[in-house]
Amino acid sequence: MSMPLLQKLAVGKYVFEKKVKGEKKYPLVLELEPLLQCNLACAGCGKISHPDEILRKRLSVEDCIAAVEECGAPVVSIAGGEPLIHDQMPQIVDELIKRKKFVFLCTNAILLKKKIHLFKPSPYFAWMIHLDGMKERHDESVCRDGIFDKAIDAIKVAKDAGFRVFTNTTFFNQDDAQSIRTVLDYLNDELKVDSMQISPAYAYEKAPDQENFLGVERTREIFREAFAGDKRKKWRLNHSPLYLDFLEGKVDYECTPWGIPCYTVFGWQRPCYLMSDAPYAKTYKELIEETDWEQYGRGKHPSCANCMAHCGYEPTAVLKTTTSIKESIRAAVGG
Ligand code: SF4
Ligand code: SF4
Repeated sequence: MSMPLLQKLAVGKYVFEKKVKGEKKYPLVLELEPLLQCNLACAGCGKISHPDEILRKRLSVEDCIAAVEECGAPVVSIAGGEPLIHDQMPQIVDELIKRKKFVFLCTNAILLKKKIHLFKPSPYFAWMIHLDGMKERHDESVCRDGIFDKAIDAIKVAKDAGFRVFTNTTFFNQDDAQSIRTVLDYLNDELKVDSMQISPAYAYEKAPDQENFLGVERTREIFREAFAGDKRKKWRLNHSPLYLDFLEGKVDYECTPWGIPCYTVFGWQRPCYLMSDAPYAKTYKELIEETDWEQYGRGKHPSCANCMAHCGYEPTAVLKTTTSIKESIRAAVGG
């Protein structure tokens, strides 16, 4: 467990304050999508299939800050599309850091070397590099040869420049326990990235490749096998132990979609960044108060049937952690 101590303390304090105030629904992370355009066209992507006029849209610095301030989340994950295409990305990051938000910039890393001089290392900032496996697997996943090498090169450049570097790996049906172990061992032991995020892929309705999404049973099976022998304790995974228990089927949870709300070029997405099931809300208040949250999650909504993604189930795990002294200690020590 490798969430930096500063971030752990800030998030713990934030959750404690929300509980003291009696607030029932509050965001842990804001998923901010300032554009949907990308310089790749991955087969499993549900974001880039919009018409050109939508892909050309950008949220301004002011739009982004207003969304962050309205919802108040302590952590902001900037995704898209490809955030580094956005001309004002350095200003957006800078303004968020000034407000002491923990910022993760999710990127495919193609433009990282060209733009890295526009960013500064900070305990409040980390690159989150998309890497779906080793060379052949990643290049297949992003549908372009040579992207794995570019991402690895960018990771080394960013680490040498003093930045914190996280990775984000999505697993599909082509993966098995061995491919999970191979890529996590490589990122953890050879590249020595600061932390690694993992997720089974969500079956986006608009993704061109509908054949290769993992179902619930297969997800549990491959993670149980990959984590066997205390393997998961040696990896610096950016997840609560309870979410990892959930992935390998030791526990099951309800989804908490309001824990990671998404603000995008259309407004506040309902119910989560994976799925757009109802009209977008104009404000965060409208999102929270006027969404029928009870209808979402596995067993409740057909589009949630196979979902075990971190954006719905990690918030449940984090909130359960904060209600148990035993689980809080386990999370703190990396159990
Ligand atoms: S890099 Fe990300 S946003 Fe771009 S096409 Fe691939 S999955 Fe979609
Ligand atoms: S289960 Fe939760 S996170 Fe997954 S698609 Fe449904 S609402 Fe979103």
